[in-house]
Amino acid sequence: MERLTTTCCVVGGGPAGMMLSYLLARSGVSVILLEKHPDFFRDFRGDTIHPSTLDILFELNLLDEFLALPHDEIDFVRLNVDRKLYPVADLSHLKTKCKFVALIPQWDFLNFMATRAKKFPEFNLLLQTEATDLLFEGDRVVGVKASSRNGEVEIRADLVVGTDGRHSLIRDKAGLKSKSFGVPIDVLWMRIPRPPNPPENNLAYITQGLFMVLIERKDYYQTAYLIPKGEFKQIQEGGLEAFRAKIVGIAPFLTPTIGEIDSWDKVKLLTVVIDRLQKWHRPGLLCIGDAAHAMSPAGGVGINLAIQDAVATANALAHKLREQTSTEQDLAAIQERRLKPTKTIQAMQVLVHQQLINTNPSSTKRLAFLLSVVRFFPFVRHYIAKFIGVGPLPEHVRTAPP
Ligand SMILES: Cc1cc2nc3c(=O)[nH]c(=O)nc-3n(C[C@H](O)[C@H](O)[C@H](O)COP(=O)(O)OP(=O)(O)OC[C@H]3O[C@@H](n4cnc5c(N)ncnc54)[C@H](O)[C@@H]3O)c2cc1C
Repeated sequence: MERLTTTCCVVGGGPAGMMLSYLLARSGVSVILLEKHPDFFRDFRGDTIHPSTLDILFELNLLDEFLALPHDEIDFVRLNVDRKLYPVADLSHLKTKCKFVALIPQWDFLNFMATRAKKFPEFNLLLQTEATDLLFEGDRVVGVKASSRNGEVEIRADLVVGTDGRHSLIRDKAGLKSKSFGVPIDVLWMRIPRPPNPPENNLAYITQGLFMVLIERKDYYQTAYLIPKGEFKQIQEGGLEAFRAKIVGIAPFLTPTIGEIDSWDKVKLLTVVIDRLQKWHRPGLLCIGDAAHAMSPAGGVGINLAIQDAVATANALAHKLREQTSTEQDLAAIQERRLKPTKTIQAMQVLVHQQLINTNPSSTKRLAFLLSVVRFFPFVRHYIAKFIGVGPLPEHVRTAPP
C-alpha cells in the first residue's frame, strides 16, 4: 500500500475539483487531486463556460490563452419552438469581461486548467485513481483510500474535499444526507454527424413535447434528447427506426445523417438528478459542486455553479490551510455563503422542469406562449442572460500566490 500525505485531498477532477486544486496550489497549498478516469476525454460533461467563469479566468490571467483554444461564442440565445425562432437571452448587455458563453468541449477546459496547474509544485494530479473510502480518526475525516493501477493508495490530508459529482461516493461515505427534488426527465446523449450544408444551429429544438439540444462539434452534433424519466427501456422496445423518426421529426435537416445511429450502443442514458446535501461538511471534510448539490442541465448552469463554489472555497480556506488553522466553522461558512445561490438556481431548475422543460406537449405550448411575450420585453431577455450567464452571487478570486 502506497502512503501519501498532503494538506488537501480533492476527490474528482471535474470543474469544481480542478478549479479548487488550481487555486489552492497557486496559493502554495499542497494538493492531491484524484480522478478515477485516465483522462478528461469524456462526452457527458456539458460544454458551457459562462461569462462569470470567464471573469475568473481573466482574474487568473488565463483568459487570452483560454480563448485561443477553438471554441464558439453565444451572445444571443434563441430557441426553436414548434419551428418558430424565439429570442430568449441577450448577453451583450452583461457587465462582464466577455459578453458571451464560450462553447468548448469540457475536456479542453479541464486539460487547459490541469496543464496550467502543473506549473505549481504543490499540484499533484493522480489520474486513474479512484477514491474508495474515507479514513477516520474518531469523528474526524483524516484522508482517503483509493485504488490505482499500481494498487491501493492511502492519502492522509488536513482536509478532504468531495468534488466527485452527482453520484458522489464521498458524500455517502461521510454519511451526509441529501434531499432530492423530483425531475421528470432523463437525457439520451449521442453523436449525430453534421449533414452537408447544415442550417444555422439554434441549440435547442422543441416541438410538441419533444426536446432536443444540439451542441456543435467539428463534424458532429453532440445531441441531448429528453425522455420521460425511467422510459429508456420502453423507447428501446419501440425500435431504433421509431427513435430515429422522432429525432428527424424535431430537426428534419438531420435526415441525411441520422442513419449513423444504427445501434443502441451509440445512445447513452444520462440520468438527471436535482438534489442537495443538508450539511455539506463534517470535521475534516467538505463537499462542493454536484457532490453537494446535483444540478440538471436546465440553463446549462451547473458547471458555473461548481466553479463558483470552488472559488469561494479557495478564498475562505487557502490562507488557513497554509497556516493549518482551518476549522469546521470555516467549512460551515462556505456552505452558508454558497447555499443561497444554489437554492435559487435549483428552485429555478425545478420550476422550469415542472412547467416548461419536460416531455409534455402542453409544456411546449406554455413555453411558446411565454417566449412570444418575452419577444416584446428586451429587459426580460437581459435578466435571463444575467441569471444564466452570471448567476446569483458571482465569486471573484481573492487568493494570490504566496
Ligand atoms: C445530461 C447532463 C447535461 C449537462 N449539461 C450541462 C451543460 O451544458 N452546462 C452546465 O453548466 N451544466 C451541465 N450539466 C450539469 C453539470 O454537468 C454539473 O453541474 C457539473 O459537471 C458539476 O461539476 P462538478 O465538478 O461538481 O462534478 P462533475 O463534473 O460530475 O465531476 C466529477 C468528477 O469526479 C470524478 N469522480 C467521480 N467519482 C470519483 C471517485 N470515486 N474517485 C475519483 N474521481 C471520481 C468523475 O470522473 C468526474 O471527473 C449537465 C448535467 C447533465 C446530467
